[in-house]
Amino acid sequence: MPIDEWLSSRLARTKAAGLYRSLKPPQAVAEAKRTNWASNDYLSLANDKRLIHAAETALRRFGAGSTGSRLTSGNTEWHEKLERKIAGFKQTEAALLFSSGYLANIGVLSSLPEKGDVILSDQLNHASIIDGCRISKADTVVYRHTDMNDLEEKLRTAQSRARCFIVTDGVFSMDGTIAPLDEIMLLAKRYRAFVIVDDAHATGVLGDAGRGTGEYFGVSPDVVIGTLSKAVGAEGGFVAGSKALIDFLLNHARTFIFQTAVPPASCAAACRALDIIKDSRDKRRLLQSSVTTIKRGLEDIGFTVKGEDTPIIPVMIGDPQKAVRFANGLKEKGIEAPAIRPPTVAEGESRIRLTVTADRKLRDIEALLEGFKLVGRELNLVK
Ligand SMILES: *Cc1c(COP(=O)(O)O)cnc(C)c1O
Repeated sequence: MPIDEWLSSRLARTKAAGLYRSLKPPQAVAEAKRTNWASNDYLSLANDKRLIHAAETALRRFGAGSTGSRLTSGNTEWHEKLERKIAGFKQTEAALLFSSGYLANIGVLSSLPEKGDVILSDQLNHASIIDGCRISKADTVVYRHTDMNDLEEKLRTAQSRARCFIVTDGVFSMDGTIAPLDEIMLLAKRYRAFVIVDDAHATGVLGDAGRGTGEYFGVSPDVVIGTLSKAVGAEGGFVAGSKALIDFLLNHARTFIFQTAVPPASCAAACRALDIIKDSRDKRRLLQSSVTTIKRGLEDIGFTVKGEDTPIIPVMIGDPQKAVRFANGLKEKGIEAPAIRPPTVAEGESRIRLTVTADRKLRDIEALLEGFKLVGRELNLVK
């Protein structure tokens, strides 16, 4: 069978399962910015003039690309400055840049745990953690989402292993739940495990200074992974931790060694953003108050809303087809919010996933709630 025919038949199965994806036209995305409830730009920094200015200045001086891996020709003062800035922000000894959060997870999980070790991974961890576990030579054991009894049982069983690693999202991307990092740290101490936390959705959002899950709970995990592409408003990924950890990753993480360094202009933008984030308490408060208004509003209408005090709000629908119809109904009313279905979430847990950003006006929130009420009634989900 010719390759295109074979791929088309596989895609036909994807379509039949209702799981086909396609890109929205850029024009439509740009026009929908005001009505789109799916952005990860939580603090609305991606278009902040201060970040753009910082990037422009670095762009002129260092060019559009970084020309090579950090270990060859790609290292600039902006990369090193940003690493110092991240370490300061996360209050660790050191930090290391990766091209993305995805590659930071792959780099850590494929290099740190060895054969004979075990990785205990939360059931709802991000795809990049799952892929990192697959590449690792260690075995992976999945524990039930944020279930500390299950984690403890699995830690106990794993005591014969050379080492145990617990890996978790700080804020879970589809459920908006916060990992109980304080309890995880206690269990890790009791059962001599190392803790790796992926703070992609927590950086800039959780904690008084926005330092993330560690600050929120007042604990210091062994390895902190993050992205510069969500609340930080730029792009790139990082790992923060001890000097020994960073030196180890620089020598052993293949996604660091064999990848071209992020462009210096992105580093400059991220540096500026981290300074802004520390002092953005008012913005975080505003964001949190918008989240509370939306959640209360949806519950008053009669919806079941999951998650905790994070800008990720899953509105539970249940049936996948209904979730898609719901998203289409919202779209007709000028509201863009994605339907999330299996396999991204469990069977029967299809949902509309909203994310909130700090630039939301009260009138946007009112329009959102009105849209949910109307579509909910049309589909007989609320009275
Ligand atoms: C978005 C995300 C990533 C990937 O980060 P990128 O910088 O976009 O590659 C990793 N982990 C989690 C939990 C995420 O939500």
